[in-house]
Amino acid sequence: MQEQAYRANDKEEAIPNVATISHYCNKCGKEESYSENDINDLIKKARWHKLDLGRMGYGSSMDGSDIEFEICDSCLKAFIMSFENPDSVTCSGSNCYSEES
Ligand SMILES: [Zn+2]
Repeated sequence: MQEQAYRANDKEEAIPNVATISHYCNKCGKEESYSENDINDLIKKARWHKLDLGRMGYGSSMDGSDIEFEICDSCLKAFIMSFENPDSVTCSGSNCYSEES
């Protein structure tokens, strides 16, 4: 049986009135923890991404697996930049990030 690669993320541990937010990148193994009242918590939180693709369907090589993981900003960026046309993903919303600009 294959060992479960997924680890619980965003666990909040009760330390008297202050929650600790923990992140773990399933790609590179990077970990980060900080206090919920950390003055930079919003900036730190934006550097982590949870992806929940749900249960893979019949026909997928991962049929029946629930695909959910957390990835750090660096790994997500590297993944997207490996796309044939990363601008089709990154040029959206209120910004257009491109490696060439
Ligand atoms: Zn990473």
